[in-house]
Formats: sequence, structure tokens, C-alpha cells
Amino acid sequence: MKSDIEIARAASMKPIMDIAGTLGVPTDAVLQYGPYKAKISLDYISSLADRPDGNLILVTAMTPTPAGEGKTTTTVGLGDGLNRIGKNAIMCLREPSLGPCFGMKGGAAGGGHAQVVPMEDINLHFTGDFHAITSANNLLAALVDNHIYWGNGCAIDVRRVAWRRVIDMNDRALREIVCSLGGVANGFPREAGFDITVASEVMAILCLAMDLEDLERRLGNIVVGYTRDKTPVTAKEIEAAGAMTVLLKDALMPNLVQTLENNPAFVHGGPFANIAHGCNTVLATRTALKLAEFVVTEAGFGADLGAEKFFDIKCRKAGLKPAAAVIVATIRALKMHGGVKKEDLGQENVDAVKKGLANLGRHIRNVGQFGVPAVVAINAFTSDTEAEFRAVEDYCTELGVEAIPCTHWADGGKGTEALAKKVVELSDSGRSQFRPLYDDDLPLWDKVRTIARSIYAAEDIVADKAVRDQFRQLQDQGFGHFPICMAKTQYSFSTDPNLKGAPTGHVVAIREVRLSAGAEFIVVITGEIMTMPGLPRVPAANSIRLDEAGNVVGLF
Ligand code: ADP
Ligand code: MG
Repeated sequence: MKSDIEIARAASMKPIMDIAGTLGVPTDAVLQYGPYKAKISLDYISSLADRPDGNLILVTAMTPTPAGEGKTTTTVGLGDGLNRIGKNAIMCLREPSLGPCFGMKGGAAGGGHAQVVPMEDINLHFTGDFHAITSANNLLAALVDNHIYWGNGCAIDVRRVAWRRVIDMNDRALREIVCSLGGVANGFPREAGFDITVASEVMAILCLAMDLEDLERRLGNIVVGYTRDKTPVTAKEIEAAGAMTVLLKDALMPNLVQTLENNPAFVHGGPFANIAHGCNTVLATRTALKLAEFVVTEAGFGADLGAEKFFDIKCRKAGLKPAAAVIVATIRALKMHGGVKKEDLGQENVDAVKKGLANLGRHIRNVGQFGVPAVVAINAFTSDTEAEFRAVEDYCTELGVEAIPCTHWADGGKGTEALAKKVVELSDSGRSQFRPLYDDDLPLWDKVRTIARSIYAAEDIVADKAVRDQFRQLQDQGFGHFPICMAKTQYSFSTDPNLKGAPTGHVVAIREVRLSAGAEFIVVITGEIMTMPGLPRVPAANSIRLDEAGNVVGLF
């Protein structure tokens, strides 16, 4: 069997100008980055404002397991399938980070015969967006320390600097550092640290900004630290927002690439799905909606996290109204939720599939709470059996949704035609009555409780007094209207990653609350949150190299 990178390399790509041409984008609006990548100019994008929007389709999934679900793969497969049945469809995906690429995960541009290309470029430096974000983030960090060095006019308490540096790498050695050592000329020694670039608030801001002006406004609102009496100091107060915007002006333009079947895809922005909201940029999604009948997009993790944040943060804030949702399930993941060990996933086990369906069922009901009609895509693996498919189909029929086996990984868009037809039917039915889960003016604490009870089926939420005080403080400081960005394990509806299936009666303990004043959400942290991952014992990097012909190998 061919690896993803071998399949990707065998693709016959069209010049990106041709792809843009099929979308009707004029050549002077296409800024080429080599023959197969381009950015779309912001002026052109603003000229599209009066056009009607296409149908927005969210691809989300059941609770992930180490067996893998294939959301990106299914997003690409569905987009190709829609194009195959004669619909004009664009896919919107996130840009991969170098951290997981050289760590555990390998590439993140789909898989098998459902990929976006050029795969190596997309996974590596691409169009330089992440470098721009890293630079803008670190410019702010340098300006904060410089502000303190030259007299500290804003009276930032050096013990309360809240802004960290970032690098797009898994590097545990940088998690906690001491900086400014070496004497008077080097500033005031203090504890600091690095996050991975995708965890930067700058990334979340870029992904939620409507245009350059909104980008600058949001960057200015970043809280970089606090004074001794805990008054927030913003990036605007230290005059950083203008220069940061300059560094980000090209990064804000959506990146256009193509699928293996030469259909258009925007790959733009890549915020973490824990400390941030985990979906591609608002700008790419809105642009795609102006250019195509159907826009297929992915949200990170399972539907309890990814879809909830997509609906409650991105759609709410950008005024998007999804027409339908695709919930990806795999027989393998269902079996794991039904108690099967990873080693035994190859054996047919209908009973385990049936046991695991409780997990999928809850995600189906949850998506329904947002008023969005859903279909289940069973992402087929070669070891799956007919009897196992039937168990899923029967169960879903009872819940009033269709479950459709899809073979896009093996067959490309041909393998998702049935799914594509169903998605068109759901969109045309006009059934979507999208509404966010909670109102803007609900108090922050009650928003979190609503999410925990309605989506996680938790009994309640709890927090220590210090955390509850923080909630009150944020409410008093005028941030009460922000949506919540939950940071929870993706492996369970509860906060315990080992609790599979559809647990009930659990209590969600909130450990910490963080303000993202520029991104305009409140991060609510349950359990440990990793903002700087480490590399595994045997990182993917160990087998990544160039072959004799100069091709990248080992990038999955
Ligand atoms: P997600 O977006 O949910 O994290 P991806 O779509 O990136 O998942 O897929 C993760 C990995 O699983 C990829 O390496 C992909 O090639 C592989 N994969 C996805 N679907 C299948 C399938 N049907 N059969 C075999 N491997 C698959
Ligand atoms: Mg993905």
C-alpha cells in the first residue's frame, strides 16, 4: 500500500492560477507562492461582500481514540465528492503545525486518496503564515520587556507579565525559563516561557479577524500583563498593535491549494483546539462561501469540543449559519468506546460496536441542540465488515439520522458520492435553524455550566474560591459577554480521558480561567492543558529525510 506522501507526490496538480480561474477569481487577485500555492488578495475579498453565501457544512466527529477518526480526510473526501456530483465546493482546513509534524502525528493534510497538495509544502513552511505569527507574537514579547527596561511607563509588574514567547516546535525545554539574565544591560530577570505557535493568542486572533482593521483592534486588546494593583496593561498601551499588524498583513490573506482531484481548498490558520477554538480562519471560510455553492470545513477534536466551539465562538462571532453537519465515526473508534483494546481492532466485533454507539449517539443529539441537521459518515477502514456497518446504520436510523459508509480514503471523491448527495439534500431542505447554545448575556459561570450539562452530560461544575473569584472579576471588568472556550481532554465527554462511551453524572472541575481579550473569549481550563508539547521517545523527525532525488520521505 502506498503511503500518504507517495500518493500525494503522484498527484497531477494543476497550476494554481487555473484553480483560481475555476472559482472566477481574477488573476490580479491571486498572489502566487510558486506554481501550486497562492494567496487571495484582501481587496478582492472585500469586493465580494454583496454576493450571497453558499452552504456551510461542518465536519466533526465522535470522541477521538488512538484508532483515529479521519476528520480532515473526510472533509477533503466530501469536498471532492460534492464536486464529482456537479456541485461547486471548496474545502476549508487548518494549516498544520511543525510540532506534531516532527513529533507524533506526521502530516495533517488528509490521507490516502483524500488529500490536499502540495502535501510537503503545506506541512512544512507553506506560505510563511506561522513564521509571521511567531514573529508578531515575539515582537510583542520583546516590546513588553523593552517597555519595562526603558522605565516601565505603564507600571507593568514584572512578576505579572502575562505574555509568553512562542516557537512552532515541540520543545519541552522551553516550557519554563528564566530570562533577562546577565546584568543590568539585559533587563530585569524574571520567569518566562514558550508556547507552541498554534497556542498563541495571535493565532486565535488571526483566525477570528474579519479584516485588517479588526485584526489591529484585536491585537491592541491583548492583555500583556498587570500592574501591582492587577490592572490589565494592553498591547495598545505599549504601542505594539501597528507593527504586529504589519507583520501579519500577508498572513491574513487566505491560502489557496488543491485536492488530489484538482478541487479548490483554502488552508488557512491553525489554532489549537484546547486553548483556542480549533478551526480555520473566518476570512477563508467567508471568502469560500462567496465563491462556492458548498463550503466544507473541519473543527478539531470531537463534537463536544470542536463543534461546540465552532458554533458558539466562530459561527456566533462571524455571523455564519451552518446548513448541515457531518459527524465522522469509525468502526475502530466505536469498538474502542465499546471496550476493545487497540491490538484487537482488526477482528469483527459487532457487540463492541453496539456498545460504543452510545458515544456517537450523544454527539448526534448534541449537534441537534444547535439546530443543525446531521448525517453520520462512517470513514471506512479495510478491516471493517458489513455487519459492523449495519449495526451503525440501524442505530442511527433510530435516532433519525442516516449513517453512510464512505471509502474516500481508498477511492477519493467517488467514495463519498452518497454522502455528498445527502449533504445536498439536508442543505436544500432548509432544515437548519442554527442557534448558539447560550446567549451572550448569560453570566460566564452559567455559560460554562450550560456547556457542561447540555454537551458533556455532567451533573455540575465546581471550582475553588480563587477561580470563582476570577469569574466574578472578569464579569465585573466587562468581559461577561464573551463566549467560553473550553479546554478539556478530547478523549472523553468528562474530564477523565479514560472514561469512554457516554458517561453521565460526572462533575467538571475548573482549574483555571484565562482571558483572551484580543481573541474575545474566556478560556476555561479543566485538567492539565499543554501549550508546549514535547517530542515522543521516537519522534517522527527521526525518519524524515531527503532521498537521493531530493524528495522528502518519512512525512507520512
Ligand atoms: P483527524 O483530522 O480526525 O485528526 P485525519 O483525517 O488527519 O484525522 O487522519 C488521521 C490519519 O488517519 C491520517 O494519517 C490518515 O491517512 C489516516 N486515515 C484516515 N482515514 C483512514 C482510512 N479510512 N483508512 C486508513 N487510514 C485512514
Ligand atoms: Mg484534522
